[in-house]
Amino acid sequence: MSLPTKSTQVVFEHNPNGDIVPDTGKPDSTFAVKEAKLDTDLKKGDLLLKTLYLSNDPTQRNWLRKKGDDGRNYSKSIYEGEVMEAYGLAKVIKSNAEGYKEGDIISSRIQWADYSVLPANEVFNKVDTSANLPLSYFLSVLGMTSLTAFLGLTEAGQLRKYLSDKSGKGPVVCVSAASGAVGSTVVQISKHVLGASKVIGLSGSDEKAKWVEKLGADLCVNYKNSNYQDQILKFLDGDYIDVYFDNVGGEILSFVLAHMANFGRIVACGAISGYNDPKAARVDNWFHIIAQCLTVEGFLVGQYKEKFPEAIDILTKAIKEKKVDVDDSIHVETLSGDSEKQKFAKVPQIWNQLFTGEKPKGKLLIKVADA
Ligand code: NAP
Repeated sequence: MSLPTKSTQVVFEHNPNGDIVPDTGKPDSTFAVKEAKLDTDLKKGDLLLKTLYLSNDPTQRNWLRKKGDDGRNYSKSIYEGEVMEAYGLAKVIKSNAEGYKEGDIISSRIQWADYSVLPANEVFNKVDTSANLPLSYFLSVLGMTSLTAFLGLTEAGQLRKYLSDKSGKGPVVCVSAASGAVGSTVVQISKHVLGASKVIGLSGSDEKAKWVEKLGADLCVNYKNSNYQDQILKFLDGDYIDVYFDNVGGEILSFVLAHMANFGRIVACGAISGYNDPKAARVDNWFHIIAQCLTVEGFLVGQYKEKFPEAIDILTKAIKEKKVDVDDSIHVETLSGDSEKQKFAKVPQIWNQLFTGEKPKGKLLIKVADA
């Protein structure tokens, strides 16, 4: 194969003051699609990549920074003028790095671009294609999404003992963004792997809520309905929540804090309600943390790398036993258009669905090219 000479890239142009402006070509567009010359004369340690899949993650919003804003971030920031990035899968089309060869498929943080150059030391891992599993699994049910759900519950939520001990009453678990990638997996692991006695989900539409109940939640409410809190209280019927897996912060977290069991645990996994508008993630009911002796644990999946292999084994078994759905939980959008520029203009639009309620259920992936 002859090597590409240029790359089509989505560049971060204007830091949004609030909501992202996902359409390109407007004066205040958050992103612009550009072409850049690709230097295929690789430095030692570099890989030339062809992008295959891009993951859509809420946390990418937290990477976007104005030039000069060096505020604390747990992940590398992207500044205006730089190419936007995502977690993704790519194929090595040329290697000048030890341990990598043409044809390898890697998982890493990669560019919103068709082709790019990456130092091999930034690769997360090589994808094991020997089992012939669909590549999309490695960004969803066997990737960071499921690891976040599993390790959030078992480590930060301290529910590990329920993996083997099913003798007593299982925990009461509540999860927000329950129809999302992480949330829908939290529901299934809680119910079908850890034996939760009650699983309560919150989601943004009646249709998504029904799907979450189909996956195993005993109740999923639409948090856009004014009576969602009454629905949860009626269902709890005097019971309290042992573990709240918080993906959104704000009003929902404030409500749940007041209904936690003594010594309950909050897995502080995400605060998407505030990613575009930090004020929306503010929390009331702090006193319940004291009065109920709650533990609120900030959770980052990357802190648990040494536990990934064991978690993947348990998740693979759960998938084989049909305790975790793979068919209906992955939504892949294939990029189409007359030109690479047209195709890549769709990437910010697809990603923005995460913040608007338009996102389909489960994990939303973008397929850029066939392997
Ligand atoms: P996702 O759930 O697939 O997509 C985001 C979902 O959030 C949307 O589908 C939407 O669902 C919901 N949402 C958006 N705005 C909301 C709002 N204002 N209030 C309530 N819900 C809202 O994304 P994901 O990848 O699974 O991520 C879920 C959360 O986990 C995010 O907060 C993310 O940052 C976090 N996360 C953390 C880690 C970690 O290591 N700590 C790792 C991965 C993800 P509805 O349509 O139902 O509203």
